[in-house]
Amino acid sequence: MTCDECRTHLQEFVDGELGSAEKAAIDAHLTGCQECTHLHRQLNKFTTTLIKISEPLKPKADFGSKVLRKFEETKAELNRVPSERPAAVSSVRTAVRTFPAWPFIAGAAVLVVAGLAVMFHKPKEDPVAWLREGAEHARVQVYEGNAWKETEEPGRVFSGNRIEALDAPGEIVEIDFGPAADAMLRAPCVLMIERNATGILVRPDRTCRLWLATKGSGSKSGKILKLLYNNAWVQLDLDGSNAVDVEASPSGSLVVSVKTGSAHFGNADANGDVAEGYTRSIGQTGKPSDAATIDPKTFDWIKPE
Ligand SMILES: [Zn+2]
Repeated sequence: MTCDECRTHLQEFVDGELGSAEKAAIDAHLTGCQECTHLHRQLNKFTTTLIKISEPLKPKADFGSKVLRKFEETKAELNRVPSERPAAVSSVRTAVRTFPAWPFIAGAAVLVVAGLAVMFHKPKEDPVAWLREGAEHARVQVYEGNAWKETEEPGRVFSGNRIEALDAPGEIVEIDFGPAADAMLRAPCVLMIERNATGILVRPDRTCRLWLATKGSGSKSGKILKLLYNNAWVQLDLDGSNAVDVEASPSGSLVVSVKTGSAHFGNADANGDVAEGYTRSIGQTGKPSDAATIDPKTFDWIKPE
């Protein structure tokens, strides 16, 4: 087999479309020919890459399927040439057939990669929070597919991420919301963190004990730091200097103890304010009630400097 003959059938070889005799002949030629082996490797790589990166696009992206269709059409056209032409011009056809496929495949692969980059590129957003002290006891997770998975940026929390601290009960993790606010959680605790038009939303999805503090940053006028525990919620104004100790308790109520400033609270039925030095228990429904102050002996907050 000559190099020309080998290259004529190389694409079919890669695609697994050849009979066993032709396949064996090409195998034999490749064993003894470095140049064809090099071309084979390249073609193999391009084809595999093209198939692999196009796979997820097929159902949803017209772009990927167009590229693939064009690729298939071009390949079919190139494949048709030799059998429809007289043998005398077959060497010209061979050249036509083998050569132009290369830049096309390379171009198609580049286009698909570029398309993917455009489709999956998200504008760079700022983190909502950073984990500081005790970060080693927490994991930042993102919801992907059907599960929470650890993010690639362990200390940074983006909107929609959650902080999971389950493995080291009693440990405290500091959450820095930038100039506006900060928080501390005591493990075990799982918190969803979101940023929206009203400010920062913190949602425990199980029993959690938290310290929330706002820093009176003037630029955050009108915005809030809100903790939402099913129907029950407590919120602090970001433009004031407020600090609360909050327990999302196993009974479903929020116990809110205001250490500095004041807090707003509510549930499905009522809302109001808690003043400095007071503690309220806010159930999922009904009126809030006085509650025993959260026992400070069970929990010593480490105040960040
Ligand atoms: Zn060769």
